[in-house]
Amino acid sequence: MALHGVQEAAVVLPDPGLSDPAPTPGCGVCAALYRQGTDARNPKSPNYDLSKASDYFVELRRHHSNPEGMK
Ligand SMILES: [Zn+2]
Repeated sequence: MALHGVQEAAVVLPDPGLSDPAPTPGCGVCAALYRQGTDARNPKSPNYDLSKASDYFVELRRHHSNPEGMK
């Protein structure tokens, strides 16, 4: 547990007011994440879960914003 300037990733709280990241056109992963995220955010959906929705959108936002360490 060294603290040499390595910061923990900020905890992202569910925030329904947050603007949606746009899914990258043609990317099936983005499309799936976007669909799951919007579904999890829909109170009428059986999959309604705001914390999961937040996870999906965080993942979607990161999917193409990883300039280094692309795996
Ligand atoms: Zn993608």
